[in-house]
Amino acid sequence: MKAMVLNQITDIAENKSPLELIHLPQPIPGDKEILVKVSACGVCHTELDEIEGRTPPQIFPMVLGHQVVGTVEKLGSNASKFKIDDRVGIAWIYSACGKCEFCLAGNENLCTDFKATGRDAFGGYAEFMKVPEDFAFPIPEIFSNSGAAPLLCAGAIGYRSLHLTNLEDGHNLGLTGFGASAHLVLMMAKHKFPNSKIYVFARSEKEREFAMELGAEWAGDTEQEPPEKLNCIIDTTPVWKPIIEAIKNLKPGGRLIINAIRKEELDKDYLLKLDYPEHLWMEKEIKSVANVARRDVSEFLNLAAEIPIKPEFQEYALTDANKALIELKQRKIRGAKVLKI
Ligand SMILES: [Zn+2]
Ligand SMILES: [Zn+2]
Repeated sequence: MKAMVLNQITDIAENKSPLELIHLPQPIPGDKEILVKVSACGVCHTELDEIEGRTPPQIFPMVLGHQVVGTVEKLGSNASKFKIDDRVGIAWIYSACGKCEFCLAGNENLCTDFKATGRDAFGGYAEFMKVPEDFAFPIPEIFSNSGAAPLLCAGAIGYRSLHLTNLEDGHNLGLTGFGASAHLVLMMAKHKFPNSKIYVFARSEKEREFAMELGAEWAGDTEQEPPEKLNCIIDTTPVWKPIIEAIKNLKPGGRLIINAIRKEELDKDYLLKLDYPEHLWMEKEIKSVANVARRDVSEFLNLAAEIPIKPEFQEYALTDANKALIELKQRKIRGAKVLKI
């Protein structure tokens, strides 16, 4: 089968072809696994973190990609959850131990044995992949393959971030950064919290316009001050400046959720601007969101079908994965990028 693989950590600023097209043997599903014929795979900022070594794969070559939609091609000898040709999705969570305190509480995203699709196991930048059947999700009919793919990461982790804000209807929500995840959060927040106003901070004019089209109350640049203080803010940027700029806009008791698997080192100096009375005093909180649990993925897919949320996306061929990644790095973003396989 064809696969786009990462052979080593590299710097995307210098290497415009971080992934290589190779042929790999078709995976053989184990006991409780299924083999999936990949139809679409979303392109995520986390792939850049893997390529540039902020959250590196442990083995090379690695097939990246963790927003996978496809059909069941083969069943392992004891797999019984799906039938051949069923449409399934695979998300960032590839497996977890199932026995530790976090797994037993449904927070398998925090399991020390958490394995990520496309980092710790081969992912969806390929014609086929295998996955434990308990970690595959039925995809609601209303979505196309490419339309469902971005929901599986950006959407599911956005759902978990929104849940962690403890937002109540009528509370104001801020979003700093307005890429694939944030635009989905805006849509779900408007549905779940119809009386809440949403304020968007984004560097690019295009992203700000997009936010206003989707119903934001206000959109400004990262360091602009919104017309009022906010109950909570979700940060989806890869850098530090938006953190400092966001927390000063929180109300007393407000909470910042950082939805980023890793931050880049580029502007870390900006943290020296942290002023305790201005930024943290008055019981302000900062909390990160880590990975996703299966519950986040399935609850979000149902919510997305109900609203319905149909993300905007651009399609690329599997062999154009490098182009999609470079464009993502350069923040040429409007909505999501999807490899059509
Ligand atoms: Zn992702
Ligand atoms: Zn566990």
